[in-house]
Amino acid sequence: MSEGNAAAARPQRTVRKRRDIRERMERAVLADWETLEDEDIAIFTIRRPDGTDFPEFETGQYTLLAFWDQPSDDPRPRQLSIASTPLDRDFLEFYVILVRDALEDGSNTPGVFTGALWRHGPGDEILYMPRPAGRFTLARTAQPDVVCVATGTGLAPFVSMARTAWRAYQETGEAPRRFTIVHGVSYASQLGYAEELQRMAQDPGFGLVYAPTVSRPASDPGYTEAMCRGRANDLVRLHFGRETSGRVDPWFAGDLADILRERLTPEGAAVYLCGNPDMIADAKGSLAGAGFETEGRESQVITEDYW
Ligand SMILES: Cc1cc2nc3c(=O)[nH]c(=O)nc-3n(C[C@H](O)[C@H](O)[C@H](O)COP(=O)(O)OP(=O)(O)OC[C@H]3O[C@@H](n4cnc5c(N)ncnc54)[C@H](O)[C@@H]3O)c2cc1C
Repeated sequence: MSEGNAAAARPQRTVRKRRDIRERMERAVLADWETLEDEDIAIFTIRRPDGTDFPEFETGQYTLLAFWDQPSDDPRPRQLSIASTPLDRDFLEFYVILVRDALEDGSNTPGVFTGALWRHGPGDEILYMPRPAGRFTLARTAQPDVVCVATGTGLAPFVSMARTAWRAYQETGEAPRRFTIVHGVSYASQLGYAEELQRMAQDPGFGLVYAPTVSRPASDPGYTEAMCRGRANDLVRLHFGRETSGRVDPWFAGDLADILRERLTPEGAAVYLCGNPDMIADAKGSLAGAGFETEGRESQVITEDYW
């Protein structure tokens, strides 16, 4: 075979365009939209256009969301934890912060997805991935106490877990696992879901303890002594008697120090950490130092880094 014929016989290598993952996503509609007092933080819901239920999911899981008008150089969908309960699947709720400093040059550019989200409003189309994903789930542990530590919108999966457990408790009068939720923010205006979690915490039979902590109390007119002070990871450090790291000396409001002495122990607690990766790495180090199993199948420390 001549060289020319050989070339003709070789299968042609077609240069395939990388498929835009958004083509595999389904259309939903942005439904409710509400910002907190800090308007860079929102709680929003999506619904299917035909009003049917979303597929099943477990509390703690996330889905992928995207817009068609995200910049063409970054069409990737973003992961967002589901804050609603799988018991109500006619909508999905999310808790999200507008990322303002997405570029390392400090140019204050809004994030690709969250920038687009803040340009849209109720009634607009949003894309979602039908199959929820993620292993940040309660089924991975069995300890009776569930201690949840979140920074910022990392609270979302814990809202889903608490709502679902609350509903079961309303029906049966029993709370199989006890939740303690530490929510770290810079300012009190960023404490989403505070009222709902406080309401659940008022029922002693449910056993939920809600502990918001503010890391800049001195410059925060919304701060009250009903809230803890300091970063979430510093409260964990304080609990275990380790040197703390932030500018504010951590402080436990009310009887939280006693509650954590009872609940945050390697014998009885599973610990779920969600949000800022620095908080997670630091808290995980404290827990490992205190005798918690933090690796492998038997790990009692479960983590979800948001970036
Ligand atoms: C499993 C998983 C679940 C997530 N769930 C949520 C959620 O429920 N709510 C939520 O707000 N975000 C969540 N995120 C983060 C989310 O996927 C996006 O990264 C975020 O919305 C920013 O996207 P963007 O396109 O606007 O920013 P990009 O243009 O992609 O910029 C990314 C940069 O923004 C910063 N960043 C990302 N997320 C945050 C954040 N939450 N707070 C401060 N800075 C951040 C980081 O520096 C990151 O490198 C989750 C991430 C993962 C991996």
